[in-house]
Amino acid sequence: MQYVSTRAASSAAASSSQQFSDILLGGLAADGGLFLPTAYPQVTGAELDAWRKLSYAELAFEILKKFATDIPEADLRALTAKTYTQDVYKNARQGESAADITPLRVLEEANGTKLVLQALSNGPTLAFKDMAMQLLGNLFEYALAKQNAELNIFGATSGDTGSAAEYAMRGKKGIRVFMLSPHKKMSAFQTAQMFSLQDPNIYNIAIEGVFDDAQDMVKAVSNDLEYKAKHKIGTVNSINWARVVAQVVYYFRGYLAATTSNEQKVSFTVPSGNFGNICAGHIARMMGLPIDKLVAATNENDVLDEFFRTGVYRVRKSAETYHTSSPSMDISKASNFERFVYELVGRDGDRTRALFQKVETHGGFDLSGKPGSDGDEFKLVANYGFKSGKSTHDDRVNTIRDVADDYGIVIDTHTADGIKVAKENLEPGVTMIVLETALAAKFNETILEALGEDAERPAGFENIEDLPQKFVVMKADVDAMKAYIATNTGL
Ligand SMILES: *Cc1c(COP(=O)(O)O)cnc(C)c1O
Repeated sequence: MQYVSTRAASSAAASSSQQFSDILLGGLAADGGLFLPTAYPQVTGAELDAWRKLSYAELAFEILKKFATDIPEADLRALTAKTYTQDVYKNARQGESAADITPLRVLEEANGTKLVLQALSNGPTLAFKDMAMQLLGNLFEYALAKQNAELNIFGATSGDTGSAAEYAMRGKKGIRVFMLSPHKKMSAFQTAQMFSLQDPNIYNIAIEGVFDDAQDMVKAVSNDLEYKAKHKIGTVNSINWARVVAQVVYYFRGYLAATTSNEQKVSFTVPSGNFGNICAGHIARMMGLPIDKLVAATNENDVLDEFFRTGVYRVRKSAETYHTSSPSMDISKASNFERFVYELVGRDGDRTRALFQKVETHGGFDLSGKPGSDGDEFKLVANYGFKSGKSTHDDRVNTIRDVADDYGIVIDTHTADGIKVAKENLEPGVTMIVLETALAAKFNETILEALGEDAERPAGFENIEDLPQKFVVMKADVDAMKAYIATNTGL
């Protein structure tokens, strides 16, 4: 399997392609684009039937081997078996089986329509980011050991990604994690989750400022190519291709668990921010999984909903990005969206490059086909099954309350955005699976507001705020940051 950048000039596409292991440790392609396979592997009906019997780990192996053709199968099988265990994804609730890894729960069944929740948040940090990040940790360790190399992961987090990365990389040979977070801006739970890690390869750095200040420091260090190479700096952000592939697996799993034959139709509603999660659903659909609709649910930050309603992609400035009660979806620019747009414009790297350059210079582009627009491909969006909707804080609070009353289960704020939008998109005869992207305990403030009581905490998290914390506080000073990394890596 060969990979190509979404911005590769058509003439150069074939010669610049790379293999899975080449792009595993990197982020963006050299031309600023994102990697995609030159063609999607196809899955047959017979394969789907055979996959119904597999464990999650075996299914992950079958799907990954189609994409990671340059990793020996025995190694890949060992890596997936080590990752997808009920020991790692152990936070299943009552009525769920941890052995299922992503257990389904039927919420409602009427008139041939089922509303189903697929739990993706039973991993160590109680959010769906663990589904891919745990595999990434094992893949990185494997690849680095082969090359006898080291990697220093440097990133910024507002909460979920940083903790998922740290729990995936803790104790891994050849890997250090330097994670910036805005000092005193994360929830007490999120702070405790990250800062209570005592592993010597984990460095928590609280920056005196907001998330954007931390993010700017990461960009400044990453733009210093000489420093980056010398100190072996890498990232684990959501554009990482291996993360996207790992997420493809649970769409297959959800479909197979919700159906008994490949004739049955299933739609997915996906609480969305950076378009990473739903992009994996799109890829599963392109591989031949019988997905009917892919519904993107946003919060008040509705960049994606606007595009799927109008064909206009209009990124927001920081000042126009609201801080909401589903904070992991507070994004103004959907970094994985380019992967879908590349497809939409017929895999034309020149067009894709021009459109995303326009995002930088003019803050967006317009594919509505109206006079003066940049193209008319919006009319093709329906062929890919995409739909969308949005939700507000009041919707979240009401949905959390209704779901607790009607189905006896407490959901988190992001999943509430998903349920609200899913209910608006139910169709007769089509099962709707809503992806549960976090457990309620992570966003307790809103649970308290909605239900008047605390969210239940999984075992082991009861007194997490009381554990000793390991972190340093630093000013937003790039030179001081570089010196800190250099001292601790000894490079
Ligand atoms: C990251 C995250 C999302 C958004 O996922 P994207 O892949 O960025 O679209 C939604 N919910 C939760 C809880 C998250 O952590």
